[in-house]
Amino acid sequence: MAPSSSKCRLTVITGPSGVGKGALVTRLLQRHQEIWLSVSATTRKPRQGEIDGTHYFFLSHERFVQLVKDGGFLEWAEFAGNRYGTPSQPVQQQLASGRPVLLEIELEGARQIRDSLPEAFHIFLAPPSFSELEERIRGRGTDSEDAIQKRLIRAREELQAQDEFDAVVINDDLEDAVLEIEQRMGF
Ligand code: ADP
Ligand code: 5GP
Repeated sequence: MAPSSSKCRLTVITGPSGVGKGALVTRLLQRHQEIWLSVSATTRKPRQGEIDGTHYFFLSHERFVQLVKDGGFLEWAEFAGNRYGTPSQPVQQQLASGRPVLLEIELEGARQIRDSLPEAFHIFLAPPSFSELEERIRGRGTDSEDAIQKRLIRAREELQAQDEFDAVVINDDLEDAVLEIEQRMGF
């Protein structure tokens, strides 16, 4: 779907782990307080400083499976050994209220959204190079070596899928990437 001149109501940002999605979304929300960011559920353990209900809803595997059965997720996927999902109801509520909604999710989830909500605008955030991506994941210092390896394997798959997206933005300089995403979102 091509970006319209008006603000896109549902935007999906996808990109390999460590590319800078979190950093970019934080700046975007600071600059546009009307944007509503979906808080995902995950079975991953919280990283240092992550707050339940703010960064994620941290759930047990059993609770996550139950929510899937109950139809509570708009989409969900397994990523690097954990499950992640977008709670359906809050997204539907915010869309109904007319607020611009942002999802920051991985590739499989983005594909599910493309099927279920075809009006969504999909942006892929790419690194300037694979070696820079690896440096960023390591530099973040939040993941074990095992988790880093899983994320790098998945990153290669995600990078191969970037042509599926409505727009590809390279996160070389963060401020430039924020400006480009704003433009793509119609701000
Ligand atoms: P993601 O949410 O995509 O996994 P993060 O937002 O956690 O990635 O970013 C990974 C690391 O890269 C963080 O340490 C972040 O500060 C850094 N980073 C993000 N964007 C840039 C950039 N444009 N240049 C250099 N470092 C960046
Ligand atoms: P992290 O563990 O680094 O916070 O996130 C790992 C990956 O899961 C990232 O690519 C992130 O975009 C993705 N992710 C976060 N929330 C969701 C979600 O609700 N659904 C899906 N499919 N992916 C998510």
